[in-house]
Amino acid sequence: MPGTGLGRCLPVRNGYLLPADDLAGTHDEEGGRLDAGGVALVLGALGEDEGRCCAVAGDGDRDDLARAWERVVEGNREFVRGERDVDPRLDDARVQREESRGTLVVVRVQRCAPRAHDIARLAGRCRRCCRDERGRGRGEHKPEHEPPDHPLNIVTPVDFEPTAEQKEIQALARDFARQEIEPYAAEWDKEHRFPRDTFAKLAELGLMGACIPEEYGGAGTDFVSYILALEELSRADAGVGVTVAVHTSAVTLPLLAFGTDEQKSRFVPPLARGEQLGAFALTEPEAGSDAGALRTRAEPDGDGWTITGAKQWITNGRYAGTFLTFARTDFETSGARGVSAFILDADQVRVTRDEEKLGLNSSATNDVAIEGAVVGRDRLLHEENKGFRVAMQTLDGGRIGIAAQAVGIAQAAYDVAREYAKQRHTFGKRIAEHQAIQQKLADMATEIEAARLLVHRAASLKDKGDRVTEAGAMAKLFASEVARRQTGEAIQILGGYGYTKEFPVERYYRDAKITEIYEGTSEIQRLVIARSILGVQQRQLAQG
Ligand SMILES: Cc1cc2nc3c(=O)[nH]c(=O)nc-3n(C[C@H](O)[C@H](O)[C@H](O)COP(=O)(O)OP(=O)(O)OC[C@H]3O[C@@H](n4cnc5c(N)ncnc54)[C@H](O)[C@@H]3O)c2cc1C
Repeated sequence: MPGTGLGRCLPVRNGYLLPADDLAGTHDEEGGRLDAGGVALVLGALGEDEGRCCAVAGDGDRDDLARAWERVVEGNREFVRGERDVDPRLDDARVQREESRGTLVVVRVQRCAPRAHDIARLAGRCRRCCRDERGRGRGEHKPEHEPPDHPLNIVTPVDFEPTAEQKEIQALARDFARQEIEPYAAEWDKEHRFPRDTFAKLAELGLMGACIPEEYGGAGTDFVSYILALEELSRADAGVGVTVAVHTSAVTLPLLAFGTDEQKSRFVPPLARGEQLGAFALTEPEAGSDAGALRTRAEPDGDGWTITGAKQWITNGRYAGTFLTFARTDFETSGARGVSAFILDADQVRVTRDEEKLGLNSSATNDVAIEGAVVGRDRLLHEENKGFRVAMQTLDGGRIGIAAQAVGIAQAAYDVAREYAKQRHTFGKRIAEHQAIQQKLADMATEIEAARLLVHRAASLKDKGDRVTEAGAMAKLFASEVARRQTGEAIQILGGYGYTKEFPVERYYRDAKITEIYEGTSEIQRLVIARSILGVQQRQLAQG
């Protein structure tokens, strides 16, 4: 909080609340204090009962301050106590005195450490003085507060029973994965081979455009079906999983969501039918989590642009026909604003490197250069300078796919570990009879199931048209950490064999790690979730 000189402060919508302890010694008996600097701060000397707190305001101008009051109080309605004590017209004597010192204020919000009763009331769960909807409670007065939509009512019910169609797609993907992917996955990993033919076969089954409407060449399933298929493919080979995930969630779906009618009918069908692969080109050497720092330039050129720059770690780069690419179009503005999204063809992009990776060896990860690609307006996706919105919305959905990939990898590791534990003997019995191994398997099964439920919840919400920023980030954060942790436990259950290439669990372990990194690292997911649950203004986060 600039200019207040006070350390701890809790951001709330449009303002800040300070813990009461931080107020000690900073206010006079009337409860006002101005700190030097642009932000005026006044502390309220409130009664014991109400606690003390402060609100924040603008920088001295009366109208400004009144507007600031509106913003703070309106934005934090649930915290506000005794509104009559807050005077937006600044005609209160105390406020005027502060104002004459260049301060302003708005005070009398609820104390920072709320009482249990306040929370219960806000949550609609007060049993002391409010009636609940069934009339329970002491009934002294009816609840006067609507529960806030966030964060206390965070759980949105979804139906986890798959529909017949969802089961059918899942079975289709599972059968294909068992016959056409799993037997070859170790070889592809060893030889770092991109299994091109496999994607042609997946296309024949409609799985390269599962959740794309039929009118655009897709199979027209819902998002949940697509996610179920992705889990099955990733269970057999995580590289195949990410190829399909990037192609679908990070390229075809954003083209569908943001494209004009002309763009949709021109660019989507070849992708949905699997005739072309898609690549999503956001990350650059200096711009990963901080994707807004990207430097690729799109210079005005006639009615279009000339694009020049370098992108790094682009999944499918070597094999893609369509690149969803991000470049700066406004050079006066730094950061996320001033970035636009473009649709490039393969011949406008040169692959400069094949990345060597820890795992995921059957997927292609490339550095690419864009060297003066000339594009017209027909290649601009969404509005000029609003490309970051495309990127962020794409990643909101894309993360659900990566979370499904993580669940698939973890499930594969668990399957092997469980079977191994039933067969390997030590000290005269199967290791599955040792409690230490049983507990590992129990934890694995529980965590994988929990991760799967989060993934399905996020996918169901997406199908309902809800915003999935938070649900997707939660699913990816949890599922990717489960995958990393439990593939490690699978190796442990297999002992020395787990560390060798005789069993696939070492591959699962190597493959799992990436799910904590791409489409937003776990640290970035935690930021996204924290900002969402705290109701803090979303800053543009990056995560390619
Ligand atoms: C195999 C692979 C495939 C990929 N595929 C694609 C692709 O198809 N398209 C694409 O555009 N990109 C892709 N990427 C890039 C990937 O999305 C980025 O690697 C990722 O977003 C992280 O960026 P970074 O590697 O630059 O890490 P950095 O941003 O440099 O982060 C380094 C560390 O700092 C932490 N950190 C950074 N900022 C913060 C913060 N504000 N708070 C707390 N911690 C922070 C990070 O969490 C991380 O631990 C791929 C990467 C790999 C390895």
